[in-house]
Amino acid sequence: MATQWEMVVGLEVHAQLLTRTKIFCGCSTAFGAPPNTHVCPVCTGLPGALPVLNRQVVEYALMAALATHCTVARMSRFARKNYFYPDLPKGYQISQYELPITERGYLDITDDDGAPKRVGITRIHMEEDAGKLLHPEHAGADYSLVDLNRACVPLLEIVSEPDLRSSREASQYARKLREILVYLGICDGNMNEGSLRVDANVSVRRLGDPTLGTRAEIKNVNSFRFLEQALEFERDRQIERIEDGGQIVQETRLFDAERGITLSMRSKEEAHDYRYFPDPDLLPLVIEPEWVERVRAALPELPDAKRARFQREYGLPDNDTELLCQSRADADLFEETVRLGVPAKTAANWLIGSVLPERGKESSVGYAFDKAPQFIADMHRLIEQGAISANLAKNEVIGLWSSGKTAEAIVAEKGLAQISDTGALKAIVDAAIAAHPKEAEAFRGGKTQLLGFFVGQVMKQTQGKANPGVVNEMVRRKLGS
Ligand code: ADP
Ligand code: MG
Ligand code: ZN
Repeated sequence: MATQWEMVVGLEVHAQLLTRTKIFCGCSTAFGAPPNTHVCPVCTGLPGALPVLNRQVVEYALMAALATHCTVARMSRFARKNYFYPDLPKGYQISQYELPITERGYLDITDDDGAPKRVGITRIHMEEDAGKLLHPEHAGADYSLVDLNRACVPLLEIVSEPDLRSSREASQYARKLREILVYLGICDGNMNEGSLRVDANVSVRRLGDPTLGTRAEIKNVNSFRFLEQALEFERDRQIERIEDGGQIVQETRLFDAERGITLSMRSKEEAHDYRYFPDPDLLPLVIEPEWVERVRAALPELPDAKRARFQREYGLPDNDTELLCQSRADADLFEETVRLGVPAKTAANWLIGSVLPERGKESSVGYAFDKAPQFIADMHRLIEQGAISANLAKNEVIGLWSSGKTAEAIVAEKGLAQISDTGALKAIVDAAIAAHPKEAEAFRGGKTQLLGFFVGQVMKQTQGKANPGVVNEMVRRKLGS
C-alpha cells in the first residue's frame, strides 16, 4: 500500500497597519506617492537619527492581539535584525524577537470535513517594513532603483503554529485573519498593494509520524488562490523528492504564479545569522493592564460573532449571512435597512442583488452606499402600498439607488406607477378577453389555469404597470368564476 502523506503548514502573515504615519518617524504612510518623497533621516537610516515609537501602532497591535485571544506581555522589547539589502539602508530591521508584545492566541476555522478546528497563533509582533526595489524593464536597463517610501511603515507579523493540514485550511485561516484585521480597521487587507503578505512554511510527513519534517518557506504569496496552488505544488514536490530517496533541504522558495510552481530562492537563514540584539535606541515597551482593558472594551463586534448574531436575530440563510457579514460596512447597511422597516429577507435580497455587487467596482466610485438603506426602505413601502409592482421595482428602480433621487421621484419620472384603478384597467381587461375568445371559452368551461394567461396579456399591454392582484380579480369576475 502506498504511504499516506500529511502536509503540515504554518503561516507568517505580514499586515501593513493603517496608521497615518510610520512606526518610528512622522513620515506619511500613504501608498503610491512619487518615490522617496515620504522620507526623513530616521526612515532612511542616517547616522544619529533616533526612532520614536508611534503609539497608534502599539494600540493596533493590542487590538489584533485581543481579537485573536493572545496574551499581552507586560513588557516587550524591540530588537535589531541585522542583514544587508539595498532596500534597508540602516543595515538592520527594527523588529521584536525574544520579547514580542503578544503570544499564544488562536483562530477558529473548520477542517476539510467541516468540523471546528482551532489554529494556534504563536505570536504577534511589531516591526518596520523595508523599502522597495524597482527594476526598470526598458531595453538595456542594467540597474535597479530604490524607493524608501515604504521603509519604516508599520507591520504586524502574525505567526501561526504548524497546525494547518491542507491548502484549504491554510487559505481559510489566512482569509479569516485578513477579515479580522479589516474588521478592526487596522489593515486594508489589500493583497495587490502588498498590505497583506503571506509566507507559507510547508513540510510533509508520513501520516501518524509525530515529528515534523524539514520545511520550505514560500515567500510573499499575494493571493489566497496562489497560496493554495503554491502549497499543493510544494506538497507534491516534497513527497516526490522523499519517495525518490532524496531529502528536503530547509530553504526559502518563491511561487511562480505563471507556471504554478515554486522555485528555490536561497537556503534558509537561521535566527543566529541575524545577530538579533535589543535595540539600544528604544526603551523597553511597558503596557499597563488598564490600556489593554480600554482597548478590549472598545473592540468592534468581530466577524464570527456578527455572523452568529445575524443568524440568531434575522434567521437568514447561511449564504446571505455570509455575504452580508463580509465587511462591517455591508453588515451595517443591512441592519440600517432593517431598522428602517424592511423585513430582513427582503432587505438581504435587495442589498445582495443590487447594492453589494457595486462595492469595489471602478464604475461605482463616488456612489453613496450609505444612501442605499433609505432608498430600499422607500421602495419597499411603495411596493407595499401598491404604488409600484415588485417586478418593476426590481428591474427599473433598484439599480438607481445611488442616483441621488428618491425612489418616489424615479417612479414618477419614469411613469412606472402601478395601475390599480379598475376604471383605468377595465378597457384593457375587456380587450384582452375579446381578443382571445377561445381561451375565454375554455376558462368559462373550467380551465381556470388560463387566469395567468389573461393577466399576462394585461401586463403586456401596460408594460408591467397593472396591479396583478387587481387584474386577477377583474378577469375572474368578468369570466364568471
Ligand atoms: P522563522 O522565523 O525562521 O521563519 P519560526 O520558527 O518562527 O521560523 O517558524 C515560522 C513558521 O514556520 C511558523 O508559522 C511555524 O508554525 C512554521 N513551521 C515551523 N516548523 C515547521 C514545519 N516543520 N513544517 C511546517 N511549518 C513549520
Ligand atoms: Mg520566517
Ligand atoms: Zn521618516
